[in-house]
Amino acid sequence: MIYLKSPEEIEVMRQANRIAVRVMQTLKEKMTPGTATQELDRLAEEIITRAGGKPAFKGYRGFPAALCISINEELVHGIPSQRKLKEGDIVSIDCGVLYRGFYGDHAWTFPLGEVSEGAKRILAVGAKALELGIQKMRAGARLYDISAVVQGLVEKAGFSVVRDFVGHGIGKDLHEDPQLPNFGEAGTGMRLKPGLVLAFEPMVCEGDYAVKTLSDGWTVVTQDGGLAVHFEHSVAVTAEGPDVLSRWD
Ligand code: MG
Ligand code: MG
Repeated sequence: MIYLKSPEEIEVMRQANRIAVRVMQTLKEKMTPGTATQELDRLAEEIITRAGGKPAFKGYRGFPAALCISINEELVHGIPSQRKLKEGDIVSIDCGVLYRGFYGDHAWTFPLGEVSEGAKRILAVGAKALELGIQKMRAGARLYDISAVVQGLVEKAGFSVVRDFVGHGIGKDLHEDPQLPNFGEAGTGMRLKPGLVLAFEPMVCEGDYAVKTLSDGWTVVTQDGGLAVHFEHSVAVTAEGPDVLSRWD
């Protein structure tokens, strides 16, 4: 079931996403070598709560924290802990916010200090995939036009796209229909309509796309130990084009 949102509902979702953006901007500044990931999580929860929101991930299927923080070969769903960040790490932060009955969902992978050339390249490709996919989010286009542009760019760069996790519709639920894979065939899938809001989240692996979940029951890592990046924006399809609700400004 696909729920199209009214312009008023989209404005509330923009506010939810603005809180997530504020979290991300703050953490980007606070992230330094030696910082424990649980310290970032504590800050995030404080920012979200003060803004009148709720951390969407905390308690979701038993997830214990406000943020998912995934480092290097960790792709998604890393649990904040006493682990300290190190120079050269790439750090993915995923932040979900519930605000006035609607969800915002935003993720970014940040380099910590000076990172390897390989890390720089996969970060650039992940961010570019996000940007190119967003440009496809126009009323009348097909859903998998978005998927195809991501897969094309990523594979041309010699990297791979994750198969086991996909983007999703978002609104009054954190995960709504439709699913939005990062692989697929252009010209197929549902037609995009104004009011459709998608959490679009390219996930790119340096090596093979096979992933596994660690024994903590959450942290997803690449099987071959290669780097992984994750970029996510919540985007509304409107008659005027894609409206990035989690845009930084
Ligand atoms: Mg997310
Ligand atoms: Mg998401």
